[in-house]
Amino acid sequence: MSQPKNILMLAGDGIGPEVMGEVKRIIDWSNAKGDTNFVVEEDLVGGACYDAHGVALTDETLDKAHAADAVLLGAVGGPKWDGVAREHRPEAGLLKLRKEMDLFANLRPALVFDALIDASTLKPEIVRGLDIMIVRELTAGVYFGQPRGIEERDGVAYGFDTQVYSEPEIDRVARVAFDMAKKRTGKVCSVEKANVMESGVFWRSVVSKLHDGEYADVELSHMYADNCCMQLVRWPGQFDVIVTDNLFGDILSDCAAMLTGSLGMLPSASLGSKDETTGKVPAMYEPVHGSAPDIAGQGKANPLATILSYSMMLRYSFNLGTQADNLDQAVQNVLAHGYRTADIMSDGMTELSTSDMGKAVVTELEKLG
Ligand code: NAD
Repeated sequence: MSQPKNILMLAGDGIGPEVMGEVKRIIDWSNAKGDTNFVVEEDLVGGACYDAHGVALTDETLDKAHAADAVLLGAVGGPKWDGVAREHRPEAGLLKLRKEMDLFANLRPALVFDALIDASTLKPEIVRGLDIMIVRELTAGVYFGQPRGIEERDGVAYGFDTQVYSEPEIDRVARVAFDMAKKRTGKVCSVEKANVMESGVFWRSVVSKLHDGEYADVELSHMYADNCCMQLVRWPGQFDVIVTDNLFGDILSDCAAMLTGSLGMLPSASLGSKDETTGKVPAMYEPVHGSAPDIAGQGKANPLATILSYSMMLRYSFNLGTQADNLDQAVQNVLAHGYRTADIMSDGMTELSTSDMGKAVVTELEKLG
């Protein structure tokens, strides 16, 4: 059996513990079978951590996140903590984790499952087989650039932010996109607004330089962000990997996500820089959805986004592509059999609880062998 790998599970709030429980079910199954050798440690984040320790993330938990081979997070937040000071709000724990682990590359796949094709607002022929990976720069750009503020100048009030990127910040996220494209269909579309922004001209030049120097075997195209929005809705099948900055990535990944039609199905990964000594890449995996307080504790949550986030962990942190493929296939099969949680339920399908959906995935994994 392979060397044990450490996974830190931070279930968080609301439906977080429920959906995380189904990943634990899958890990217990694959560990028992000998396919994986994962040691799982669980800890608190978000509101649950605030209730226990008065902060949304403790230093001890952050140390565990740094030490772990990968982190899996459920979701944080909820109305219970609405009155808490901003720096201790549940979201502050998540933001601190991303910042302290320097998770600069956010991977958001938009994948349309055949069985859920009618959940998309687009026509089936437009979204069938859709499989896009958006790589969003996550730790720089206009959300962090200085100066920023609201101030008065000569009697007129101004509000301003600064879009700023260094060459290394663009280079490292573009590298993630090119490496990813090599494992997929070998196409990268780099998105900015080089027509109207200096930072866009610079972004394009850095991506092109890296491409020509080290990734000439990958097909690179450039697109303006407004056109990319339009093309995602017009003909999404033209894209494989899209790499873009923090602001455009925020918008484009939400747009692409909705092509798939359901929040409970969307996974994500955030990756940092490889440690050249240990070879380890800091990584955190989490569903795109929030803590869904409206359905928490009722067994109604769809665990598939978290299960698919775990599948990304298998693929990207542990290089277990076959296991990830099997897990993705098991999810496809469960849906093809007509099993649905309430959020994706439709006529003629069979509604399952959160735990029954997790069990159904394990049953399919067993069949796949
Ligand atoms: P949400 O994603 O929690 O819920 C939006 C809607 O989708 C709700 O009706 C919910 O029931 C449904 N939903 C979401 N995930 C589902 C799932 N897995 N299965 C079935 N239905 C699901 O977004 P919100 O309501 O805007 O936010 C609720 C809380 O979550 C807030 O405190 C917010 O700050 C927090 N939040 C956290 C994260 C995160 O942890 N990454 C992300 C977004 C929102």
